[in-house]
Amino acid sequence: MHTLRPGQDGYTEEVAGFQTSVATRPAVVVAAETAEDVVAAVEYAAEHGLTVSVQATGHGLTAGTDGLLISTRRMTGVEIDPDAKTARVGAGVRWGAVIEAAAKHGLAPLSGSSPDVGVVGYTLSGGFGLMARRFGRAADHVRAIDVVTPDGELRTVTPGSELFWALLGGRAGFGIVTALEFGLVPVAELYGGGLYFDAADLPAVLRAWRTWAMTAPDELTTSIAVVPLPDLPFLPEPIRGKHVANVRIAYLGEDGDSAVAPLRAAAPVLLDTLKRLPYTDSGSIASDPPHPHPYHGTNATVEVLNDGMLTSIVEHAGPGAPVATVLIIDRLGGELARRPAAGVGWDSAAEFVVRALSVVEDGVDPIRRAHAKLFDALAPWSTGRLLPFLYGEHPAGDLATAFPAGDVARLKQLKAKYDPAGRFG
Ligand SMILES: Cc1cc2nc3c(=O)[nH]c(=O)nc-3n(C[C@H](O)[C@H](O)[C@H](O)COP(=O)(O)OP(=O)(O)OC[C@H]3O[C@@H](n4cnc5c(N)ncnc54)[C@H](O)[C@@H]3O)c2cc1C
Repeated sequence: MHTLRPGQDGYTEEVAGFQTSVATRPAVVVAAETAEDVVAAVEYAAEHGLTVSVQATGHGLTAGTDGLLISTRRMTGVEIDPDAKTARVGAGVRWGAVIEAAAKHGLAPLSGSSPDVGVVGYTLSGGFGLMARRFGRAADHVRAIDVVTPDGELRTVTPGSELFWALLGGRAGFGIVTALEFGLVPVAELYGGGLYFDAADLPAVLRAWRTWAMTAPDELTTSIAVVPLPDLPFLPEPIRGKHVANVRIAYLGEDGDSAVAPLRAAAPVLLDTLKRLPYTDSGSIASDPPHPHPYHGTNATVEVLNDGMLTSIVEHAGPGAPVATVLIIDRLGGELARRPAAGVGWDSAAEFVVRALSVVEDGVDPIRRAHAKLFDALAPWSTGRLLPFLYGEHPAGDLATAFPAGDVARLKQLKAKYDPAGRFG
């Protein structure tokens, strides 16, 4: 078991993650390579009364830890079974590695906007992917989870068991996953990319997108992002330095151009990147930033998106908003509404999720206040929150609001059973 302590060479690099706004200074880091290393780390933490947390990529850091941190970044095994259409991956694998391996067999995983995100953290958060309206959440396709529970036992849990349910939402609070096995789908390519509009046309574009997205087929998963883009050379000239409304589309049907025609007519299009592309290029649809940075964000699922809500969104997160905000609205529904969640529930009645994300420059408080104004305005129609899109430090109570009350009560009961000392999470 390879350990690192503050001050030792390699400690800072091992602790560093994608999210840099959360201060993490564990007393000891275990650089795990195998499931046995994870067992040894959990036993060590129990002997020394240390809290236990885990990090793969640091995309989803929500709180710092002063106890023992298990770093899984070396657990990078990926096995594809083309006949069973499944993948088995180690705890440190990022989506990009699975996408590449599965594509060799004409298959794809239910990955999300960024290929750099970790498979395990994403899936244990539910996993809302580029094909979510057609195939549902990533969590719903999990076949088996290898996990070291707080008692130090390495177990394999499968659908139907209480621990399987609790891990899919309760995440590291119930143990450290060492490997995950899940189903793949037969998708090699899709029609995808983005349409960029000037945010000056935001009210018209938002209304057009809402109407279009409400009647979209399940084969089409889409979001709209309102983004203040920097004036930097890597961005194409038509959108560089502009505040834009970016409609993102992943469509599994045949005639993509006909499907998006109403949107192209919504307002003048600054840039159109829609085309057929291999699933291996699916990271280009949202083009999430690849570099670590500090960010804070929250979200709300909503049952409708009426005109008053759209006006609030423009006011609180459009051009001229007091804090620069990336505002994303995702269309839910489709298979997400039909399939009962395999893990801790998502509100399947919600039609959209509204997310706000800001880069942390002068502390988190101004961001919290600005986001609160937006989500207070949406509160009458809000049904809950989605766990993966709570970014940065959030009070524990915030996590509870991500789940329906019945699920929170069941999670508490199971937490007392599997982690009675409350050291994991
Ligand atoms: C740029 C970006 C794009 C994103 N896109 C999407 C998207 O399209 N769809 C979506 O659903 N989400 C998305 N997310 C959210 C993402 O799924 C969550 O932040 C997720 O928690 C990240 O997991 P990670 O392992 O990469 O991060 P980490 O910070 O390493 O882990 C986050 C948490 O996951 C849990 N975890 C990780 N590994 C283990 C393990 N081995 N055992 C037990 N628990 C573990 C822990 O609770 C840990 O604190 C995105 C996030 C970012 C920053």
